[in-house]
Amino acid sequence: MPQTDFDSLVIGAGAVGLATAAELAERGQSVLVLEAGPQPGEGTTARNSEVIHAGLYYPTGSLKHALCVTGRRRLYDFLRDQNVAHAKCGKLVVASDAAEEERLSEILERGRENGVEGLRLLSRREVAARAPELRASAALWSPETGIFDSHGYLVQLIAWLEARGGLLVLRTPVTGVTPIQGGYAVETGGAEPTRITARRLVNAAGLWAPGLAEKIAGLPAEARPRQWLAKGCYFRFTGRSPFDCLIYPVPVDGGLGIHATLDLGGALRFGPDVDWLPEGTGPEGIDYRVDPARAGAFETAIRRYWPGLPEGRLEPDYSGVRPKLRGPGGGTFDFEIQTEGAHGLPGLVNLFGIESPGLTASLAIGARVAEGLVES
Ligand SMILES: Cc1cc2nc3c(=O)[nH]c(=O)nc-3n(C[C@H](O)[C@H](O)[C@H](O)COP(=O)(O)OP(=O)(O)OC[C@H]3O[C@@H](n4cnc5c(N)ncnc54)[C@H](O)[C@@H]3O)c2cc1C
Repeated sequence: MPQTDFDSLVIGAGAVGLATAAELAERGQSVLVLEAGPQPGEGTTARNSEVIHAGLYYPTGSLKHALCVTGRRRLYDFLRDQNVAHAKCGKLVVASDAAEEERLSEILERGRENGVEGLRLLSRREVAARAPELRASAALWSPETGIFDSHGYLVQLIAWLEARGGLLVLRTPVTGVTPIQGGYAVETGGAEPTRITARRLVNAAGLWAPGLAEKIAGLPAEARPRQWLAKGCYFRFTGRSPFDCLIYPVPVDGGLGIHATLDLGGALRFGPDVDWLPEGTGPEGIDYRVDPARAGAFETAIRRYWPGLPEGRLEPDYSGVRPKLRGPGGGTFDFEIQTEGAHGLPGLVNLFGIESPGLTASLAIGARVAEGLVES
């Protein structure tokens, strides 16, 4: 087997790329992570709700289900062991009418099938005792849901990677990939363009992953997925939070509904909504600004479960963009961990459609990819 510069090369230093790189290094691989940006984790990893999802909603047996539940358990252990700030604050999924109560029962059933611990339906009276400001005809209590400091998490992933001899190089966009004997040659741009070889390659470029796949010579056309982008905006509440846990409505097409999340300092924010970007919009064309005019629609959605939301207390915050493998109305899809079986190129893994719960699942995705690659 010809010698390569590294055993494994990971493209993208978001939570998923870094967790995968650390898991590969843990298995004795020499690992290089190349990141296009000036800092790690400035993609979708920095633009989300920072919620540790319990694993309620995903079809039983899907990757989203399996990797969310195992990833969540591992994430809590990791955060505790590495002293990263987090809180298992729990969440209420609230129903406003009989139809939504039926949806709640379905979510409860699915959550139990998914092995999510501690789920319980609460009556109107129990909800009122827990969160008097809420208007709900019933709610589902999920005690395993939590929040965490995702930046602190990334810092610890990098520390783990580097402690196992792995390297992270910033400002180094991958511009092309060519299969060579026993691996891949990777061309990079940036200030000092170069060529690096590795036996195994992981495309963890988030929103850019399908675009990068176009630049992998020899990848069959049918292995390059079509991607749609769905933006989600957040508004922050400029007052004291009346809630001490997360509040979610029942899910909507494309997202989990405009929910109330807390940060670790107790500040309350709402979002994300679902705004499908025009077809053909690429990640480079995203406008992340939050239009203040959306506040009205947010107020209407929030008042369904918090009628006492005071006027004019929402301020535009930030936004994130979901990589969707189905278009508007196209239904749900699973994470795509694309391996040799799907594209015929040994030692190559493409990660497509890693939307929520990708952050929660990141350690489990990393372990799954690393195991598969090292055993191959
Ligand atoms: C609005 C929103 C809310 C969410 N809320 C939650 C939540 O509460 N809980 C949860 O579990 N998940 C949540 N998610 C999902 C979660 O944020 C993502 O699944 C996760 O962050 C994806 O990480 P990633 O590493 O795949 O992608 P990214 O973080 O985007 O990382 C990809 C990296 O690749 C780099 N890159 C791209 N192209 C190249 C190239 N050619 N060369 C080198 N580097 C390159 C980018 O610069 C970037 O740093 C949410 C997502 C959104 C959009």
